[in-house]
Amino acid sequence: MNEYDVIVIGGGAAGMFAAVQAGYAGAKVLLLEPNERLGKKLYITGKGRCNLTNDCPWQEVLKNVPRNPRFLYSALSGFTPADAITFFESHGCETKTERGNRVFPVTDKSASVVDALKTALQYAGVEILRVRATELLTEAAVGDGSPVPRPAGGETPPLRETKRRISGVRTDRGSFAAPAVILATGGKSYPATGSTGDGYRLAKALGHSIVPPVGSLVPLVEDGPWCAKMQGLALRNVSVRLFESLPPGGRAVQGTASFYSQLRSSAAEMGSSAQVSAQPTDEGTPRTAAVGKPVYEDFGELLFTHFGLSGPVILSASAHMEQERAYTISIDLKPALDEATLDARLLRDFAAQQNRSFENALAGLYPKTMIPVMVERSGIPGDTKVHSVTKEQRRRLLELTKHFPVKIAGLRPVEEAIITSGGVSVKEIDPKTMESRLVPGLYFAGEVLDVDAYTGGFNLQIAWSTAYAAAQAAAVPRL
Ligand code: FAD
Repeated sequence: MNEYDVIVIGGGAAGMFAAVQAGYAGAKVLLLEPNERLGKKLYITGKGRCNLTNDCPWQEVLKNVPRNPRFLYSALSGFTPADAITFFESHGCETKTERGNRVFPVTDKSASVVDALKTALQYAGVEILRVRATELLTEAAVGDGSPVPRPAGGETPPLRETKRRISGVRTDRGSFAAPAVILATGGKSYPATGSTGDGYRLAKALGHSIVPPVGSLVPLVEDGPWCAKMQGLALRNVSVRLFESLPPGGRAVQGTASFYSQLRSSAAEMGSSAQVSAQPTDEGTPRTAAVGKPVYEDFGELLFTHFGLSGPVILSASAHMEQERAYTISIDLKPALDEATLDARLLRDFAAQQNRSFENALAGLYPKTMIPVMVERSGIPGDTKVHSVTKEQRRRLLELTKHFPVKIAGLRPVEEAIITSGGVSVKEIDPKTMESRLVPGLYFAGEVLDVDAYTGGFNLQIAWSTAYAAAQAAAVPRL
C-alpha cells in the first residue's frame, strides 16, 4: 500500500485548498478526485465569475452564518478573508472588490481561481489521483479494548476503551495508507459537479451523526397558481419581504407540513420575531398586506417560474427559512414610490385613460405578462371602464402593488440548492483542528460540515478557513 502523510478526499474548493496547505506544511499529500477536472463546482460559482470571499473582518463572516457560527470562530480567525485574498493574489489571481464587499477575480472568470489552486497544488508537490474514495480505513488506537495491566494484587483488569484511528482510504482503484485523512467531499447540491453526498456515508460508517441535508439558497415553491401564470418574467428593482405566516386558524398550511418536515429544527440563532396579522386569501385577493416584522427583506431581482419564485433575492430569503413554519413572500412592485405617490400616479394614469377598460389601462404600470394576474387578484373585472373604478377598488390595486403576496409551500430539493444546509454534525468535531472527536486522524473541511452561510462569498471563505485549519493539524508529523 502506498503511504502518505495526508490523504485529502475531494478536489473541490476545500479539498484543493487543504491539499495545498498540507503540502506547504511539509506533508506528503495525496488528493483524490473522481472528476476529470478539479474544482468542477468552482467553475460555476458566482455565475461563472466566482465570488471567492467577502472583504470584511472575519467576525463579520460569522454574522452571515445562520447555523453553528460559533463552531467557525477559531477557523475564521486563523484564516481570514484578507488571508484568502493574499493567497489568491500571490498565486496569480488578481482580485477586485464589488458591491457588498464581494471579491471576484479581475478576469471575471472562475477559471482564474481554479488555476491559482492548480498552480499551488504543483508548488506544494501534491499527488493527484482520479479515483473515488469508497471507505475510510481504521486501525486499533491506544485504548483499543485490550486489558490494561493488572495492578499488583488487583482483581479482574478493566478493558481499555475501544477506539479506532484512521489508517488510510479504500478507493475504486486500490487502497492508500495515511495517518491523517481530510474529508472534503462537499454537500448534496448540484450533484452533477461531484457532490453526491458520499462524505456523509463515509463519515456515518465511522459513527458520525449526520444532520439531514436540505437546501439553502434555493428557489421557493408557491402554494398557489400565480407564479406559474407569469413564468419566465424577471423583475428587477423590486423589494421583497419574507414573513413567517400563521395560516388561518393557526395550523400548518395544508400540504406544506411534509415539505417542511424535510427541514431540520436547528437554526435557533436566526430566531424570528415576525408576525403576520393578515393573509392573502386563497382566492387570490389579498385581504390585506402582511404586517409585522419581516424575517428578512431585500431589494433586487426575482424570477417567476413554473413552480414559484427564484432569482437572487429569493435564494437569499430561503436561507432564513426554518422547519415547520409557513411563510409568505410579499413583493413591493414599486419600491421607489410610497403609497401616497403611487396613488397619485394611479389617479393620473386613470384620468388620462378614462374610457379605456381597466385591463388596458395597466400597460404603463406592470409588465405585460403580469397584467392578467393583477386584474384577477385585484378582483376588478378587466372590462370595467376606468372612469367607473371605485376608490376602494383603486385602493386594492395599490395594496396589491405594494404587497404582492406569494404563499410559500416549501423549498425546491437540495439538489437545486446553491448550498447544503446540514451535514456532519459539528458537535463531534474539534473546532480548532477540524479533527473528529470520534476517530483520531479524520478531519473535515468545507460543505460536508453542518455549516452554511448567506450569499456574498462567505461559503467559499468557510471552505478556505476550515481547510486551512484541518491541513495545519493533519500535516503535523505523527509518531
Ligand atoms: P465541492 O466544491 O462540492 O467539492 C467536493 C468535491 O468532492 C467534488 O469535486 C466531488 O467530486 C468530490 N467528491 C465527492 N465524493 C467523493 C469521493 N467519494 N471521493 C473523492 N472525491 C469525492 N459560494 C461562494 O462563496 N461564492 C459563490 O459565488 C458561490 N456560487 C455558487 C454558485 C453555484 C451555482 C453553486 C452550486 C454554489 C456556489 N457557491 C458559492 C457555494 C460553493 O460553491 C460551495 O460552498 C463550495 O464549492 C464548497 O466547497 P467543497 O470543497 O466543500 O465542496
